[in-house]
Amino acid sequence: MLLGQLLLESNLGTRKEIKRLFKDGKILVNQQVVYEFGTVVDPSWMTITVDEVPLETNITHTYYIAHKPKGYVSANKDAQFPTVLDLIAPEDNPGNLSISGRLDRDAHGLVFLTNNGQLHYILQQPKFDIEKTYRVTVNGLMDGKMVAAFEAGVVFEDGTVCKPATLDILTASAQSSTGIVRISQGQRHQIKKMFLACGVKVTDLFRQKIGPLDLGDLPEGAYRSLNETEKLAVM
Ligand code: URA
Repeated sequence: MLLGQLLLESNLGTRKEIKRLFKDGKILVNQQVVYEFGTVVDPSWMTITVDEVPLETNITHTYYIAHKPKGYVSANKDAQFPTVLDLIAPEDNPGNLSISGRLDRDAHGLVFLTNNGQLHYILQQPKFDIEKTYRVTVNGLMDGKMVAAFEAGVVFEDGTVCKPATLDILTASAQSSTGIVRISQGQRHQIKKMFLACGVKVTDLFRQKIGPLDLGDLPEGAYRSLNETEKLAVM
């Protein structure tokens, strides 16, 4: 993991203060001074000292899933709207949680929060895009042609071809249809854009799963820690 990130997560100061420690040559890895915030370290076998004090690297990370209601934004702060972090009680919030797998303000369902910076970073990378499962309602007909288009990769107006996805239709009529969508792609408004490209508009978007994590029957607005099995599955 990145040494600077490790020091941040060990609460050794703000990013600015930690950068100062690097600049002043106060940080040693295996007795060698290192100056780069982005130095890659493996704390399980490297000795790290900060201002001559050995670093206790037995970090305990926090992992939550939360049931985001509609109207909440997936951001750390917002001037206008409540945020997903407002769902977390102050005593459960270590102060450095990040939201992985954002959801639009008008969408609801599963979000994942962690202060494990490395895992958060990995989950943001398109090459690690993991499957997400949504229940989607649209204002028109879902049909076999749409299922085939999802399987082949929906093509946007600008020529962008989406990764193949699956659509299982639950109910269908000319006025409104609902289906389960599984995608391994997380661009902004991905699902809304895919349905728009098929000629219908999303009227409700609910996320049930992110990879191995399942919202289950967690009530709206509630959150819980991952259990040991889930933690192992996301590592
Ligand atoms: N696709 C969307 O369009 N919106 C989301 O919030 C998530 C996936």
